[in-house]
Amino acid sequence: MKDRRIDLHTHSTASDGSLTPTELIRYAATKRLVALALTDHDGVDGLNEAAAEGERLGIEVIPAVELSADHPEGTMHVLGFFIDRRHEGFCGRLRRLQEARKERNRKIVQKLQGLGLQITYEEVVAASGGGLVGRPHFAKVLLQKGYVSSMQEAFERYLKKGAPGYVDKFRFSPRDAIDAIHEAGGVAVLAHPFTLYKEPSALLEPLLGTLADLGLDGMEVIYSTYTEGQSRYYRGLAEKFHLLPSGGSDFHGSHKPGIDLGVGMGRLQIPFELLEPLRKKAQGHRITNPAH
Ligand code: AMP
Ligand code: ZN
Ligand code: FE
Ligand code: FE
Repeated sequence: MKDRRIDLHTHSTASDGSLTPTELIRYAATKRLVALALTDHDGVDGLNEAAAEGERLGIEVIPAVELSADHPEGTMHVLGFFIDRRHEGFCGRLRRLQEARKERNRKIVQKLQGLGLQITYEEVVAASGGGLVGRPHFAKVLLQKGYVSSMQEAFERYLKKGAPGYVDKFRFSPRDAIDAIHEAGGVAVLAHPFTLYKEPSALLEPLLGTLADLGLDGMEVIYSTYTEGQSRYYRGLAEKFHLLPSGGSDFHGSHKPGIDLGVGMGRLQIPFELLEPLRKKAQGHRITNPAH
């Protein structure tokens, strides 16, 4: 079949997306996607449900995750595709992240209360729909209560790094994030590399070299917000550092308005052909690491 489309970066209510895993896969069917990676932050709790719905609807669901890694300047996120969601060591590492998140969330509530805002931990948990709790859920409660008029304003005024409600969170080192994904049998792919540095930086290439040496397998070269030029630029860098190209919308449902599944801001197209090299690389890792 020609022109098969996929999306390798999506979120559900198991982290900070607004659709349940089932709803997400049903929505993917309406977009005629043939494969989708569910890449919830720091957790794999949505994967079973997504896989079951994927089987029903004939959509391949790639078991995946998005891990935050320590990076001094901007934001480093590493996607793991084709992970074994039941791997004990990997699940233990995720539990550590989740515990740290809980502590952090309580601290954010205290900070917001200290600023005179009426917000409770229970309200934020309720806003999360039972999955992992993150800053978008704080933003949602602040919006519902009329403290801000958009999610974006909630981040700007209270939740972004440097804002008065911000609390840093525990993250893996880049090495640990990559190792954890490999341990679980997956491939490690650098998400949205433009968030690493606030401005175009001469440090990007050396960092990619370091990450490649640590075993990074791929990089997101197709992304909702990229211009043609950015996409070409990151594709060139991926080639230079022998990183497999990946692509995704980073769909969060109504929590990221304007970013739609599969099509991003309207013109995104992620070809199925990106998937096979990633799958092969994961299989290769498993052969060299026979724990799988
Ligand atoms: P957390 O993992 O709890 O730190 O939350 C991270 C999530 O917050 C990411 O999925 C982002 O989509 C969202 N986020 C981070 N910064 C902003 C921002 N400035 N505006 C809107 N959303 C943001
Ligand atoms: Zn997110
Ligand atoms: Fe991300
Ligand atoms: Fe994401």
